[in-house]
Amino acid sequence: MSIFRDGLVGEIAVIGLGRSGSAVAELLVRDGHAVYASDSSAGRESSAAGARLRELGMDVDVGAHDLARVGSAALVVVSPGVPPSAAPLAAARESGREVVSEVEIALHYLPRLRYIAVSGTNGKTTTTALVGQMLRALGHDAPDAGNIGTPLASLALRTQPPAWAALELSSFQLHDTPSLRPTVRVLTNLSPDHLDRYASVADYYADKARLFANTTAESVVVVNADDAAVLEMAGAYPGTRSRFSASGAVGEARYDRDSGLLELLGRPLMPRAELPLLGDHNVANALAAALAVAMADGAHRTDSARQIITEVLRSFHALPHRMEPVVEVDGVLWINDSKATNVSSTHVALEGMTRPYVLLLGGRHKGEPYTSLAEPFRRLGRTTLAFGEARDQIVRDLGELLPVERLDGDFASVVARAREIAGPGDAVLLSPACSSYDMFNNYEQRGDVFRELARGPER
Ligand code: ADP
Repeated sequence: MSIFRDGLVGEIAVIGLGRSGSAVAELLVRDGHAVYASDSSAGRESSAAGARLRELGMDVDVGAHDLARVGSAALVVVSPGVPPSAAPLAAARESGREVVSEVEIALHYLPRLRYIAVSGTNGKTTTTALVGQMLRALGHDAPDAGNIGTPLASLALRTQPPAWAALELSSFQLHDTPSLRPTVRVLTNLSPDHLDRYASVADYYADKARLFANTTAESVVVVNADDAAVLEMAGAYPGTRSRFSASGAVGEARYDRDSGLLELLGRPLMPRAELPLLGDHNVANALAAALAVAMADGAHRTDSARQIITEVLRSFHALPHRMEPVVEVDGVLWINDSKATNVSSTHVALEGMTRPYVLLLGGRHKGEPYTSLAEPFRRLGRTTLAFGEARDQIVRDLGELLPVERLDGDFASVVARAREIAGPGDAVLLSPACSSYDMFNNYEQRGDVFRELARGPER
């Protein structure tokens, strides 16, 4: 429970002036709090946000944080993009200040909100987007919120706040959201990630476990029956556990491989063949979303509600940068999976491939070995092109197991090499298992550039 709930007195420091930081600062000022907001960047966006917030009457610094002021604030609110090692957070910790997320504050101002909280290493955004679409198709005012896009604080600023939300939460957000009490909690899967930001896998998992904080016997949690780490983590907390399984193991939502049907609560829902998403991991995401929505309210389990849920699954297309088919040129299908920034997401991408392919692997190394990719690669992979900062590490890990070419050039030359190798019937798959920061601003830019290069010059 945050001290914020007990009637806080004193200045609140908001760290980071992105969309979440700006929205939460506005929310707090509107409620009469004294707010000091700051951002280490003096770029165009933070300067514009700063100017707007000053007009609302708060003190703002862009380009620097007043660490003494942060250290003496009554409460520190952190935006999702700010790493735990950032100077103002260190200052807050040193002076024993409580640090909470933007989500924590927003939840305080949305006391009646019913929300489905989705976390996990991979599949969060896809599952959240599916949940949001299902809730809206069922007639609710239910925006997608959190990591996926709209900050929760922006919803709290609305004159008419929504009744429901599909809320994606990263491990960093979970860390600082002590009052989390979702209608349904969904944990998609767990695997080592963010070793660049966490000291150990145990620390990372400990933050994920916070999804289950405040659970009681009445809580509903939706967990992946195919993931032993998820089952073990959830098993330590009270509540009803509903399981989904893409492998067909037992579960309240499962993919029956023999019949080819997705099942929900003991009854067939739809043939898997009608799901327009690539890969078994998306079967898992579809089952997780359908189960979470069904468990969230009795009205979501009627025959007509099941029909609506099925329609959403049938019409849902890949999100950008997530196993996104870009274009087919001369019989070669180009697939943009730039969002695969860790080894486990590339692993599932390879498992989901249905034609031979050239794999573009590389970027900034995040700490995990690439060796586990050898096995799924062998089924249909032809060649791996290792690029970016991680290329030597990739060659060390995979060079003796697979055909790997180490490329020193820029990204355009990597794509050009893929074009030379791939023939009709093949795919070129960008599923890099690395972050993009060595060559790009973010994974979106990497995917956008890939898309443009894949389409090639106008012909
Ligand atoms: P997140 O928001 O957790 O990063 P996304 O839905 O954006 O997840 O998907 C990102 C990438 O993670 C996908 O392109 C895919 O490679 C991988 N992925 C998606 N869903 C799953 C899943 N259920 N299990 C494992 N990997 C997944």
